[in-house]
Amino acid sequence: MKIRNRKRFIGKTKNVVKFVLALSAVLSGSASAWTIAPLSMKIDTSANSRRNILAKGAAFAASVAAPAVSGAYTVPDLAYPYESLEPYIDAPTMKIHHDKHHATYVANLNKATDGKPEAPILDLMANALEAGPIRNSGGGHYNHAFFWDEMAPPNVAKASKVSPQLDGLIKKSFGSMDDMKSKFEAQAAPGAVFGSGWVWVCVNKAGDELKIVGTPNQDNPLMKGVTSEVMFPILGLDVWEHAYYLKYQNRRPEYVSNWWNVVNWNKVSDNCAQVVKNHAGISF
Ligand code: MN
Repeated sequence: MKIRNRKRFIGKTKNVVKFVLALSAVLSGSASAWTIAPLSMKIDTSANSRRNILAKGAAFAASVAAPAVSGAYTVPDLAYPYESLEPYIDAPTMKIHHDKHHATYVANLNKATDGKPEAPILDLMANALEAGPIRNSGGGHYNHAFFWDEMAPPNVAKASKVSPQLDGLIKKSFGSMDDMKSKFEAQAAPGAVFGSGWVWVCVNKAGDELKIVGTPNQDNPLMKGVTSEVMFPILGLDVWEHAYYLKYQNRRPEYVSNWWNVVNWNKVSDNCAQVVKNHAGISF
């Protein structure tokens, strides 16, 4: 082979390798899993062989590409170990709730939004009622992300503090912290939220008062049409049976009253400051 032709041959070979690598990367979504196989293939620049290489590369990439739907939304990691909310919320419940239930909402949300531009989860809340499956899957993702974030191990929760701003709003709206908790527990009772749902402490639309509301299924007060006006949650409790049944069975009130022991008031105070300032829900 003449030097000039040899250079062209090497140039073409490099291009084929680059293309196979790029194709594999796109198909697999991973830069690490596939590099060895395409590089070790015998390179031949004839048209037939090139098609073969591409087909083999694609087949290999497809075989290592993990889930059929790889989406934009992901389950956030917990900021604490599964067992760290014991004895109030047990480790098996936390693991199943976070790794399975929340993950299912995220998987369904990714399916429902496949091919559409990625939007922050908060932005999907306002019109969720008209958005078909996003109402349940998007609400489920938002609500659970919110829930994990406001909890902390009992020693951390016990040391956490209600900010002067939140304290002022609690006194203005309910009289005292104890009164707020009583009202919240009454709203969380099986008779108030029948079946599956959530209970929320929200800042009202005007930003000057707190309200306690219950919502069914995975709805929340950020969704237009769920409560009398759109409101901004600063504290929320999951009262679906999957949130407490392993430990508490039918004793939902006991779960609710024990749950106060893992509420991180520093976080709730921070939520309050953010929603009052931004006049919008907490974003993730
Ligand atoms: Mn749940």
